[in-house]
Order: sequence, then C-alpha cells, then structure tokens
Amino acid sequence: MTSKERENFLRNAILVVDHSKAVLVSLVELDVQNKGQTFDQLVTKNQHEIYHLYNSSWCCQCPPGHRPPRSPRILHQSQMELLFDRSSLKLPCHNTGRRSDDFCCSMARSGLCTDVLDLTLARCLLVNFCNDVFWFSCLQLQSITLEDFLNHNKHDIYHLWKYNSPCCQCSPGYTFPSNYSMLDQNDWMKMFNALLLSCTNHRKRPSPGGMHSICSVAAAPGITLMNLDPSVRKIILQHCSTLRMDVETLVQIRNQDYGHAKEGIMSDNDYNTSVVKIERCILDIAKVCNKETKFKQKLREAKHGALDQTLFTQYQNNLMETLTRQTDISQSVADLPKLMNEYFKKGYEYNEQLMKRFNQTLIKVKSR
Ligand SMILES: [Zn+2]
Ligand SMILES: [Zn+2]
Ligand SMILES: [Zn+2]
Ligand SMILES: [Zn+2]
Repeated sequence: MTSKERENFLRNAILVVDHSKAVLVSLVELDVQNKGQTFDQLVTKNQHEIYHLYNSSWCCQCPPGHRPPRSPRILHQSQMELLFDRSSLKLPCHNTGRRSDDFCCSMARSGLCTDVLDLTLARCLLVNFCNDVFWFSCLQLQSITLEDFLNHNKHDIYHLWKYNSPCCQCSPGYTFPSNYSMLDQNDWMKMFNALLLSCTNHRKRPSPGGMHSICSVAAAPGITLMNLDPSVRKIILQHCSTLRMDVETLVQIRNQDYGHAKEGIMSDNDYNTSVVKIERCILDIAKVCNKETKFKQKLREAKHGALDQTLFTQYQNNLMETLTRQTDISQSVADLPKLMNEYFKKGYEYNEQLMKRFNQTLIKVKSR
C-alpha cells in the first residue's frame, strides 16, 4: 500500500460521504422551498408512504382493500428513527390495539431538519416524494413545455415501449434504454398523438406510419403533467431527466465502492475515473440549486486541500457500515422473486399470513 493510494481513498471518500450527500440534501431543500414547505412538513405529509418503505404489512392508515407495496424493506430502522419519534403521541388515526413501539402513525421528530439525511435517505426521499424538483429542472428551468420536452425525448420514450425493435430514427449503435416494455401502446398514444408527415422510408410502405411509427407523430399539443399517470411520469423521469440520473449515479458510485472501502486504498486510475464522474454529477445538481460556486469550492478543497489523516478510519468505517447495510437490503431484494414464486406455486393468496412468512424469511436472509 502506498501513501498515495491511501490518500486517493480518503479524498474519494470525502467526495462520496460528504459532498455527494450535501448536494442531494440541497436538492431536497430546493424541492420543499419550491413547494413553500418545510422539511418536517414534507416528512409528515408523506408519513404513510414512508412507513411502507420500512414495513409492508397493512397498517391503520391503509384504506380498506388496500395492499401496501410488497417490496421488502427499503428503509432501515435506524433511518426511520432519524425521521420519526415512535415514543411520542401517535396521529389520531392510530389503532391503539396495534403495537405501539412500531413507527405506524408516528409523527415526524420535532424540529426535524435536513441535517439528519445521509446519501441513501436523501435519495430515497428525492425519488419517491420530490419528483416536482426533477420536473422543475426539465421544464421551468429550461423554459420549455411538457410538449417540447416529450418531443425532445421522443426517441428514448418510444423505445421504453418498443424496447427491442430498432426504428427509422435509431442511430447506429443505439442502446435500448430497457430490456422490457416499460410503457404500453396506450401510454404512448396518450403522449404522442399529433400527426406528422412520416419519413420517406415509411411513406414508401403500403400502410405508412400511423400512430405507431415514431416518425409520424409528435407530442399531444398542450399536454400537461396532469394528463400522464403517476407511474408514467416516474418512468419518464427515470430515463429522461439528467438530474434524476445524476442522483442515481452518485449513489451507484458509493455502492460500488465496497472493495476500496474494505482495503482503504484506491489506485490513481480508479480515483481519477471516480472523481470525474462525481464532479460532473455534483456540479449538475448544484447548478439547479443555484449553489455552483459553493460546491466548486468544496470540490477543490476535497481534491487538493490538506488532509487530516486522523479522519481516515472514520470515513472507512462510515463507508463500510453503509455498504454492509446496502448489501444486506439488496440481498433480500434479490431473493424476493424466488420466494414469491414458491409461495404462488403453492397457491397461497396474498394475505397477512403470507406477509408475515415473507418478513420472517427476509429476516433470516438478512441475518445470514
Ligand atoms: Zn398503510
Ligand atoms: Zn397506526
Ligand atoms: Zn429507434
Ligand atoms: Zn419512419
């Protein structure tokens, strides 16, 4: 191990642990500010949905017949602990017969602010409850309408539907954005139904274009976000919002860092590649938050400033702890489809009993 490799590791860890987190927190703050809210209001408003990112069994706020999402734990107990106070008074809707030490119907901690967020938690809130900020960056900030935005991204959106067949607008080497159909024909026709003159290739065909060929349609005139289903809005953001993709990239970089974290070293090559990516994402996001100068300064310090070697263990532990937790969660997610299959083969109906067995299995998986 050279001291340079140790230094690389520490500088990269500072970028990942401190600055990536700080910029995502700025984005959460921008979202609540745009909505005229405070952070604790955002948490309180989404309390029920946040609870089900932690616990997937039916709760007192689930409407009759509602099935909470079956996905396993996305949030960790320690993260819930940061947001909610489970020991204090519950919301009035709470069924007092239920376990009281659970986070069900808990209120946001008093005086809660964005200081409590780590990278994972900030990302989780952003992608689930702050989609407005991504639309803000795609539309208002670019001074374009949704109609313009859809037209600019028509090709990618088309292949979210036709996920494996090349079209007349595919450039050589184009990689399809997904390996299954994320949108259906109905979603496509809701967004793209203004007729255009199709391309010359299509015009030569006996039945030229129509609504189903990419070249013969444009976005519906005057279309607004209200015209799109929430699930479609989410899919479009995931694939067409650079800001949304920057958020994922920062988290991915952190998640792939397990090897480096374990060893506490990083080669010059790995360090340079990582820094370029992190910097690009951080500055993209900082620009939207109008905090470019502040983050440029922070990045300069992280890359070239004096290093406090005593922080080394602190950053290494922080990364190891988060990454172990992440592997834990993704391991149980990876096992889930197999479990689901087994249960359905046996003809079980989805019910509380099943959910209980699920959770027990997940706990076993996690403690492995
Ligand atoms: Zn519920
Ligand atoms: Zn409750
Ligand atoms: Zn194409
Ligand atoms: Zn065509």
